[in-house]
Amino acid sequence: HEQRSPRMHPGLLELYEVTDHVLGVGTFATVKEIKLRSTGQSFALKIILKTTLQGKVSMLDTEIAVLSRVRHRNCVSLLEMFETEDAVYLVTDLAEGGELFDELLKKGSYTEGDAARLVREILLGVEYLHSMGIVHRDLKPENLLFLDKSENARLMITDFGLSKMLTSGNDVLMTACGTPGYVAPEVLEGIGHGRPVDMWGVGIIAYTLLCGYPPFWGEDQLALFKNIVAGKYAYEEQFWEKVSPLAKDFIDTLLVRPAEKRPTATQALAHSWFSTMLDRDEQTT
Ligand code: ADP
Ligand code: MG
Repeated sequence: HEQRSPRMHPGLLELYEVTDHVLGVGTFATVKEIKLRSTGQSFALKIILKTTLQGKVSMLDTEIAVLSRVRHRNCVSLLEMFETEDAVYLVTDLAEGGELFDELLKKGSYTEGDAARLVREILLGVEYLHSMGIVHRDLKPENLLFLDKSENARLMITDFGLSKMLTSGNDVLMTACGTPGYVAPEVLEGIGHGRPVDMWGVGIIAYTLLCGYPPFWGEDQLALFKNIVAGKYAYEEQFWEKVSPLAKDFIDTLLVRPAEKRPTATQALAHSWFSTMLDRDEQTT
């Protein structure tokens, strides 16, 4: 293995077997499955090349210190970090169920009950992250992973904290491969990047899960940005007629400007869409 991955950290290779199984490729990182040699247990290894970090490696230490304290059932835990001259290696929990993004593509859209369960899990994770002073800033279905392949698998937030560091200024417009339809208007305008940014993201996710397409779109990136900043979106009859007014009201509370008007994660969790859609036991687990 040392020969196949000559640049890997020796301490990492001593503890873990790095498999050829690529779990995913994101904006900044390649993620591979690794196995703890002592137990055979699988984890995920996130490999970030330092060229991507553009001299911000020193910021990484502080960030990692915060991220390594994150322990919540709806957040992917960061367990260990290794560093070489060329790359940073982050060992995290393995989420074997794949991306919500892929599941959504397969399904087309979710029923209201399923969407409410998923959005609630996302909000619980966001509420916890916010309580730790962490703003995700890049909430989207690609950064939401299922713990396993079971029917009602737990959903976990990944990729938090680091995105704040890896994007700056105009970079935020460039980083998302494809169209950054989840970015909050105040981020595009460069006037905000606090907790409400994540609440906007939750609103976009809820909308997208219920109909299968995002609320804002445009012929090109500029047109998309204009639409996001204008804040106009619609519930097209054809795709939304069966969705309850309560769900639309929930989305409407989140996709508002100015950012201060958006509910906190805790307030959003109290919306009656959840109590109406979910059984009592679903709400407590
Ligand atoms: P980036 O910061 O480059 O966007 P991510 O952390 O989002 O990197 O990871 C990229 C992709 O790798 C994810 O979209 C997902 O498909 C996969 N992935 C990331 N973390 C895990 C994990 N803990 N378990 C399984 N797959 C993962
Ligand atoms: Mg990502």
